[in-house]
Amino acid sequence: MQMDTITELLELQNYKAAAAIKTEDCLYVILERIEDVPPVCSGCGKVHGTSVHSGDVVTVEDLRILDKRVFLTVPKRKVRCVEDHTIRVEEIPWIRGRVTDRFAEQVYRLTSITGETQSDSGTEANER
Ligand SMILES: [Zn+2]
Repeated sequence: MQMDTITELLELQNYKAAAAIKTEDCLYVILERIEDVPPVCSGCGKVHGTSVHSGDVVTVEDLRILDKRVFLTVPKRKVRCVEDHTIRVEEIPWIRGRVTDRFAEQVYRLTSITGETQSDSGTEANER
């Protein structure tokens, strides 16, 4: 697969696929920042413009492609927050914990469907 194709497929703002590794049931995509924009502090949500303290990578799960689990390796920078002087990891808007935003949305949708089915069996609540 072409890296450009994966980048387009993922539609992640300011990140592009640098490499992809396909295993039997997983696809790992190594992401790179396109533009070196200053990191957003996860402590206070501001851009401090201070120098980057250190870097790290996180692996987050994204939506499946053709029944393969997709994992994205994302570079994350650490900054010293000027508000409380602690080291904070940068905030990336489309990451929610260990998964992407859209993955979390899908899980949420699936669990709410299951939740509705369960409440249907108990009709007492609906009759009130
Ligand atoms: Zn901060």
